[in-house]
Amino acid sequence: MNDAIDRVVQREHLFLAQMRHMRPLLETYIQFVKNDKEGNSAPTNDLYFLGRLDMTDGPEDVSFTGQPGFGHRMLGKLTGIYSMHFLPLGFAQMVVIDTDFQKKYYNISFVRREFLGEVRCLVFDLQPKNDAPAGRFMGRIWVEDQDYNIVRFNGTYSPQPKIGAYLHFDSWRLNLRTGTWLPAYIYSEESNLKTGIKSVHLKAQTRLWGYDLKGLGKNDEFTQILVDSSQSVKDQSDAGADANPVVAERLWEKQAEDNAVERMQKIGLLAPAGEVDKVLLTVVNNLLLTNNIDLQADLRCRVLLTAPLESFTIGHTIVVSRGLLDVLPDEASLSMVLAHELSHIVLGHKLDTKLAFNDRMFFPDQESFKRLDFKRSSADEEAADTKALELLKNSPYKDKLASAGLFLRALQQKAPDLPNLIRPHLGNNLAGGKSIRMSTLLASAPQLEARRLDQIAALPLGGRIKVDPWSDHVELAKAKQVALTSAREKMPFEITPFFPYLTRLSTGASEKVALSTSASSQN
Ligand SMILES: [Zn+2]
Repeated sequence: MNDAIDRVVQREHLFLAQMRHMRPLLETYIQFVKNDKEGNSAPTNDLYFLGRLDMTDGPEDVSFTGQPGFGHRMLGKLTGIYSMHFLPLGFAQMVVIDTDFQKKYYNISFVRREFLGEVRCLVFDLQPKNDAPAGRFMGRIWVEDQDYNIVRFNGTYSPQPKIGAYLHFDSWRLNLRTGTWLPAYIYSEESNLKTGIKSVHLKAQTRLWGYDLKGLGKNDEFTQILVDSSQSVKDQSDAGADANPVVAERLWEKQAEDNAVERMQKIGLLAPAGEVDKVLLTVVNNLLLTNNIDLQADLRCRVLLTAPLESFTIGHTIVVSRGLLDVLPDEASLSMVLAHELSHIVLGHKLDTKLAFNDRMFFPDQESFKRLDFKRSSADEEAADTKALELLKNSPYKDKLASAGLFLRALQQKAPDLPNLIRPHLGNNLAGGKSIRMSTLLASAPQLEARRLDQIAALPLGGRIKVDPWSDHVELAKAKQVALTSAREKMPFEITPFFPYLTRLSTGASEKVALSTSASSQN
């Protein structure tokens, strides 16, 4: 066992060296929880953060969402040389067990062998020795038994600082490259955290993705050339001629659209084209076919990789966020979201073509939310709502719109408590102030009944879309629906812990990934 511990420590140092070259996106979403009169807990406020993890020493602040505060005030900084400069500091540091991991700092005891998913692990408990420097890990680690990588650690840092507090966390790593396990999910929970005079009850999910941003950029450029050249020939009907004014205008808009989509994918905000897009496109095509609409242009659907609930269009590309896809309860409510976006396209609402100039794509990643803006005027929003109702009434979803309305009711009810989840960064608000998108559907919706087990107005976060943290590819989660045993388990819009099914990349898996990437980029 002593040997095993030595290898774990060695591996962890290697891991830290690797992480210094990685720049994944890191998203933390926090819900503050209160108990109501009946003892049921529900979120009453929230915080959202998106940034790029930077573990080299450096002065840059790489926050996308631009707010300081929570991390600094509440959480002490771990000792060590790694500047995790962006906020919230406390959540970033939870990817690292100890920036100066040494056997001599810890009392280590072997617990047992245990499987996590299909990966056999050695389990150890770690307690910092009394004379160890402050800020050491205290808790349990799971170590896979081939290369001795830590794949999960669960606990906190110790001792608690005089000011602020270390949160408890459950941190998971996935086997994303041969022999390499990288941080992917962290769940935090505190039921009675004392900060000054207040006691805080919170739950938080941290996700990391976009490890292979360089690879993504390259693939994308390659496909862009293929797709564009073939399409512009098609659009102009007779090859070899200059574009006529109408076609030129369409090509110009397409250029702005492609620039934006390509840039967002390179940053790691947009998933590459894949399976989930096709599911969305099927619903869109159902709407188009049953309404006899021929758009004379290719439509795309893409997944925004972030949690806040939003959808918008970039030219002929419909974008829906991961968080929104997660919480939508059924296909009818999905069709409502897509019908609204499709209506912008059908009505010819314009994309700001300033993005067709390539210099406008030169900006630091963290300014993405400032530089890219796909918001519509309220007049356009109303027009799209009206058109969407018309599309839905002719569609296969026309008899199921009550559940879409029910989702809107839940959204409306939760919007004041979850301002950072129900808030767009790039598009229009789904529910804000007095307005709610597609509000006409509210009229036909039943009343919300929080205690009824069979009325599911909205799902918890994280149940539907699975992101590959290395390639950013998204797929539908395979987890089966389970029967709920109490209304407490409905958890609409809520955060839950992570339990990923760990697997090893088999030898040759990286080739498989490469193959599937090139296959999907041909779509
Ligand atoms: Zn809209």
